Amino acid sequence: MKLVCIGRNYGEHAKELGNTLPEEPVVFLKPESALIPHGGPIRLPRFSQDVHHEIELVFSIAVRQGKAYADRVTIGLDLTARDLQQELKAKGLPWEKAKAFDGSAYVAEDFTAVESFPAGHHLEFLLKKNGQVAQSGHSGQMIFDVPTLIAHVERYMRLESGDLLFTGTPAGVGALRGGDRLEGYLLGELLFDLQVEGPESQR
Ligand code: ZN
Repeated sequence: MKLVCIGRNYGEHAKELGNTLPEEPVVFLKPESALIPHGGPIRLPRFSQDVHHEIELVFSIAVRQGKAYADRVTIGLDLTARDLQQELKAKGLPWEKAKAFDGSAYVAEDFTAVESFPAGHHLEFLLKKNGQVAQSGHSGQMIFDVPTLIAHVERYMRLESGDLLFTGTPAGVGALRGGDRLEGYLLGELLFDLQVEGPESQR
């Protein structure tokens, strides 16, 4: 199973990081070992002083008659060591150290069947940090929609049943500190409630 992630898929977020809007999807991977166990906590790594939260719609891929499609949806976190990512980007190096580290991904436990939503329905989601809304968005704001993303990814790598597609984050990303609490909502329903632990509190 692989985690396929899309960068810069919401215009306002691309702008807040000083990136231009992409002409085609930005694709990167995280390994399965990046996943935080259900219920958390999020443990911040020692090598970064600037780990950002990115809440994203996450789609579980299924394959029917050889064709990959988005079967079920939930929300997750693409945690990013922004200081390290900026360094790597400046040097033209790959992002894995900043994006694929242990504990850099969270996927909520409860998924909903995509086909249970009417066509064109915008999936609204939001992230609260310490009780305040930090990020909010909906699927209609994506620059590239999910079928376009799947078709694009499959030009380069095969998607398999159980793969997870992270579809990019809306504006409002920010740094995490030990003691923070993150609550993720999809369509008004609380799907995760996670505590953040700083490196100093880890043994
Ligand atoms: Zn992301």
